[in-house]
Amino acid sequence: MRVSVLTATLVCAGWSALAGAQPGAPTLDIYYVDVEGGAATLIVTPARESLLVDAGWPGHDGRDATRIQAAMKAAGITRIDHLVVSHYHVDHFGGVPALAAAVPIGRFYDHGPMTALAEDAGFPDRNSAYVAAARERRTLGPGDAIALRPAPGGTPITLDVLAASGAVVASASSAPNAACEGVTRKEPDASDNARSIAFRLQYGAFDFFDAGDLTWNVEAQLACPSSRLAPVDLYQVTHHGLDSSNNPVLLRTLAPVVAIMNNGARKGGSAAVVRDLRALPTLQALYQVHRNVATSVDDNTAPALTANLDETPDAGHMISVHVRADGAFEVVNHRTGERRTFASRP
Ligand SMILES: [Zn+2]
Repeated sequence: MRVSVLTATLVCAGWSALAGAQPGAPTLDIYYVDVEGGAATLIVTPARESLLVDAGWPGHDGRDATRIQAAMKAAGITRIDHLVVSHYHVDHFGGVPALAAAVPIGRFYDHGPMTALAEDAGFPDRNSAYVAAARERRTLGPGDAIALRPAPGGTPITLDVLAASGAVVASASSAPNAACEGVTRKEPDASDNARSIAFRLQYGAFDFFDAGDLTWNVEAQLACPSSRLAPVDLYQVTHHGLDSSNNPVLLRTLAPVVAIMNNGARKGGSAAVVRDLRALPTLQALYQVHRNVATSVDDNTAPALTANLDETPDAGHMISVHVRADGAFEVVNHRTGERRTFASRP
């Protein structure tokens, strides 16, 4: 894994020593909660408005709701203002009712009502619990946005939906994307993964991309033949790092500086995805919420960039990201407390 001279220097210098740093200035914070192979990404703006993307699994004595509340406590918030369900698989929306019973949640967003899911016989019961919890509910489609408040006099924040229900936003340009050369297709994916909500969050110069469990062919639609995407600073590795997602054409087009994978010890973290991410010339660091214990040491990122090294059931270490108004961001491994700082893309 490459670490640029700039990054290494900043790591040594520390966050507060960055040029122009304002000690105590509020940051945009992103928490990758360990939900053991599901997803839960908590975003808290400098104005302390909160948006949670997915809520992990149900059961396990409320484990995932408890871990999300620990992230909320770390962020200094007591309610979720916006909850986005990327899609209706149990590892993403199954945890919503338990969380909704524990903390106030303002508005719920998803890709639209469904009554059945071919791949999940348990969906009707889970969906009933979700519908009962989601009292104020909105459907998100490509081109929609969620309005987030900037801090008074602060840097604007935008969240734009790029894909949902298998459709992608219109391209702003008809110029062909050179990264599409050699793009491949896979068998059509009829599962709800392909209907995942994908969005781009912008905070000044900082850009973040999160696509839930979006799969290969829809990823290609976002990039080809002309791109609906722009390069990003932070990439949430799609679908826990499984290789039915993370189409290399999408990775090349997003060209992230940092990638964070919310995988489980035995879920996601495909060697092929780790390889393809490492091949990106822009990538300075790949973080994993878990080491994939089923692949080799070389097929995982460095231990220093891994939040959970083994299968200790109650560890649940997070990774968090703290973004300054100028786009520079700090990534924290909560197992070790190690902080690394990255400059936003030029
Ligand atoms: Zn998933």
